Amino acid sequence: MTDENPITLEAAVQQVIGELDGPTAVAEVVRRVLALWPSAAKRPEQTVRNQLSQHWNRTWVYPDAQTVTPLRVVMQGVRLRIVLSRLEIKHGALFFEPNFRGFARLQADPASFTLLDAAGQPLPARPVKIKIEHKSPFGDYTFEAAAWDVAPWLKGLKARDGDSLLVTIEDWETGRYRLEHEPAAKRRLDEVDRANRELADLLFGALERAHSESISGVEAIPKAYARMADPRGYPGDPWMKVVAQDSRMKLFGDDIRYPESYAPIERILDGARPRPKALSVSAGQRQQVYRFKAAFKHRPGLWRCIEIQGGQTLKDLDGVMRGAFGHDFSDHMSGFWRKLRRGDSKRFREVEIGTIAPFGGEGEGANTRIASIGLAVGDELKYVYDFGDWIEHTITLEAIGEPEQGVEYPRVVAQNKPNYQDCERCKAQGRQTRAIWVCHHCSSEQGRAVLLCQDCLFAEHEEHYADEIVY
Ligand SMILES: [Zn+2]
Ligand SMILES: [Zn+2]
Repeated sequence: MTDENPITLEAAVQQVIGELDGPTAVAEVVRRVLALWPSAAKRPEQTVRNQLSQHWNRTWVYPDAQTVTPLRVVMQGVRLRIVLSRLEIKHGALFFEPNFRGFARLQADPASFTLLDAAGQPLPARPVKIKIEHKSPFGDYTFEAAAWDVAPWLKGLKARDGDSLLVTIEDWETGRYRLEHEPAAKRRLDEVDRANRELADLLFGALERAHSESISGVEAIPKAYARMADPRGYPGDPWMKVVAQDSRMKLFGDDIRYPESYAPIERILDGARPRPKALSVSAGQRQQVYRFKAAFKHRPGLWRCIEIQGGQTLKDLDGVMRGAFGHDFSDHMSGFWRKLRRGDSKRFREVEIGTIAPFGGEGEGANTRIASIGLAVGDELKYVYDFGDWIEHTITLEAIGEPEQGVEYPRVVAQNKPNYQDCERCKAQGRQTRAIWVCHHCSSEQGRAVLLCQDCLFAEHEEHYADEIVY
């Protein structure tokens, strides 16, 4: 009976994690917990794993899903950079946020921290709250930011805004941080760049592997540092700056996302939906011919090969798609998405690259040139005709080549072997005629596809809603 255990499961987990001195296999951690907290349950391992998962980022990190690494071990001796702001120099203060974000215990009280000088002596750092005026679209407001008053120390160092404090985590659990002043001119730019690149790659890798298209920076930072070659070496820039400077990612609050991600709140804040940057296109690239294989997503046997030039636009491609797949030219919006592989996985994310309005109208991205999308052979686009009925197509780039003399692009150069159907009315009258129309009205009434030739459609179904059959 579990309720006869001398300690609770939570206490057992705490104790075992507290005793770990390095990366340890999850199975081993579970075994140690069960030694302290025996259970007669059928699958006690799962219960322990569930409890462990709640410790995520409170006491430990999971660098590779099989290993538990205690955060205090990961963070021991890690160095990070704080770049002093004008506000900090003005107030003679050091802000807790965002300087220590990702490098302090969750919900840690900064007043409990001990700040040390370069020699390891405690600084006279008085916890204070500093009023900050903030302008926002929802109205201006003031908030009190937690900080330490270190005015005499900064003054003694002749610190200026733009200078760095190189921070060494002496003890993550109790919050002891050693600070070393580095004037801006002393910054070792090459080493900062190298460290920034390594961190950016680790964070982007984490984003690519994440199930959702967003990761929490506060959770990603310890994992990244656990994988870094030399997290105790000369530090790069603050991680939020690293993310903001990397074109593969963007920061949204504490979250790291893809640059094209677009939360509803962002619409309120600044309106513009982020779009992938169009590449510049040379005269040669404008001439090149892109051969796409396009197919209905749910009927891949119905396909068309389309050739289009690099200088032509998504609107041109939309036109040939509508024609090739029997869609109306004057009704319904359509849109293109680019499918981007996430890391080396089999998962893709979709980035909208353009919508096309009917009636020859424009749409966002209608004038995007094919060559400016930056497609490589094998890349896929998603094309949707009619956002109501959502008729989805897959468009795969098969080849890029040179144009043929005297050919007008775009054009359809090949298609599946058609499997022609007969008109059922003609058939009933003993004639064989190719069906051209599907009558949706009769099809839905009779629960089967009602296929007709042109004459029979006009003869008996003139008032009905019908579509041309795509062969
Ligand atoms: Zn007929
Ligand atoms: Zn009908």
